[in-house]
Parts: sequence; C-alpha cells; structure tokens
Amino acid sequence: MIRQNRKFEHQAEDSKPVVSRGRAGDFNRNRAPVRRPVPARPSTVSPVSKEDMVRFVALGGLEEVGRNMMALEYKDEIIVVDMGLQFPEEDTPGIDYIIPNTTYLEERKHKVKAVVITHAHLDHIGAVPYLMGKVGNPPVYTAALTKEMILRRQEEFTNAPKLDIRVVQNHDKVRLSEHFEAEFFGVTHAIPDTLGMILKTPIGNIVHFAEMKFDYDKDGKPQGLDEYERIGKMGVHTLFLDSTGAVKPGFSLSERIVEKNIEEIFKKADGRVIVGAFSTLLVRISEIIKIAEKYDRKIGSFRPAPKGSRTRA
Ligand SMILES: [Zn+2]
Repeated sequence: MIRQNRKFEHQAEDSKPVVSRGRAGDFNRNRAPVRRPVPARPSTVSPVSKEDMVRFVALGGLEEVGRNMMALEYKDEIIVVDMGLQFPEEDTPGIDYIIPNTTYLEERKHKVKAVVITHAHLDHIGAVPYLMGKVGNPPVYTAALTKEMILRRQEEFTNAPKLDIRVVQNHDKVRLSEHFEAEFFGVTHAIPDTLGMILKTPIGNIVHFAEMKFDYDKDGKPQGLDEYERIGKMGVHTLFLDSTGAVKPGFSLSERIVEKNIEEIFKKADGRVIVGAFSTLLVRISEIIKIAEKYDRKIGSFRPAPKGSRTRA
C-alpha cells in the first residue's frame, strides 16, 4: 500500500524495464510495465520543484511475489532497499530465477549511498551477489542474522566484490547519507531479525515495514501494535506496507496454532514423522526441533541439491 503526498513521486514507470524473453541462464527477464493513470494532484497543493522531491523507484516486488527492490532518491543521493530474486513461474520455463532490472541505478550508481536489507528471505537478499557490483558496492545495513545469510550465499560467488556490511539492530539510528537517516525497528515475520525502517528525509518520514504479519496471542489479540502506535506518533509522510496474501480477505493462522497442530501429530505418531518446510522459515523450524526434542525424537535434515547438481546434500 502506498500513500502518496506532495513532494513524493512514484517513478516506477521511469525505471523503464526492458522487455526481453528469457533464455535458460538469462536471469534478466523483465516484464512490460503495468501502466496506471497517475491521479491528478489536488489543486490546493502548491507545485514543488523536481529538485525538492523524494523519488520512489520500484524495481520489483510491487503487486508480485519476489525480486523485492526499491530505490528512494533525493537530489544526488539514492538509498536502495532490498535486492531480492523471484522464482520461476509457469510462464518462465528454463529460467532458474529472475532478478530486478537495475538499469536506472547503474546509470546513477555514483548516487547510490547505501543498501538496506530488511530480512534474509531470498526474495529480499537473493540478488545481492549479482547486483551489488553493478550499483557500485555501497555499504549494506542489515541485522546480524541477515548479514550471516548474505555472507553464506556470497561464498558461492567468488568473483563478487567483497561486501561492506554494517550490522544494525532494533531502534538503531544511522545516518545513511547527507539527506537520509534511518531508524530501524523490529517487525514480526517468518524469519528472525526482520527490520523495518523509518527513513527520515527532507520531506518527512518514509516508513517501510519490510514484510510484515500480525501474530496473535492465545486469546486472539494481535501482537506488537504498540510499535505501530509509536511510529504513528512520530509522524508518517509515506507508508509502505507489504504483507503476503494481504489482498485476500481473512486472517493468517497464528504460529501458536500451527505449532500446536504439529505437536499433536508428533504426540500421536508411532513411527517416523516427515515435516516439510521452507528452509528460511527459521522460526517454525526451531519450533519443530523443540517439539522433536520434547518427544525424544532423533532429527535428520534433508535439503534438495541445487539445480544441475549431481549430488544431494
Ligand atoms: Zn520475507
């Protein structure tokens, strides 16, 4: 959801993705931009010079799942948020994965002052080894777990530039550049160490909630609303909220209920229990391990080998 105010420009179309059909091994598959009518500014708003605007450039992840990446630009400074990849779909046969088109940033890479990575899911970190060099390898600000996951992945890319990763945590304030300052805050998500960011800009606070969900306690009360209240009181110029499945009516199941159901299965099972989960669903995997220990089970983990590999890990 994006709320637009004066002095804020959504430049998704200006990033002009080049449309080309992908071949096997060609990760730069791009889609035709979805063009929507730009709403007219209310007549009460005085015109603002282009110079004095914060420009938002969506490079991926808007109205699609995957390849999350965006840029916020003010004068001669650009802050990038996330560098994700997208997994192939039915209409992309032969493609291993898709990365954002960064032509807009490559043409302005001297302006890119920092990259903020919100969390360690591959649709937020997966394109780091491919894109950091292209945008000038600026400092990366992220949480400790996310840093380790980025570095682990980086080991597979021996030609990628050495990264300058600076660890931040909940409530840290960091000056990213002359005009941008970030204050980080914790967000509930399926992986620990997810960070949201209040980006203080010359036009006001741009708040990015990374990818968020509400979890509920056992009485059905949503958790963590006080953080939303605190940030609201600071004044929000523009709000970015991203929550997978948010357009579907209803509620997502609380992790507490999922854990209870998994425990029931462990309790009743006589033989072996096989559990499938995304490898990055760390919160759930740690709960599964705790339940297995509680019922005195031995744990074995299995990860399918990467595509093209002959061995299995
Ligand atoms: Zn995520």
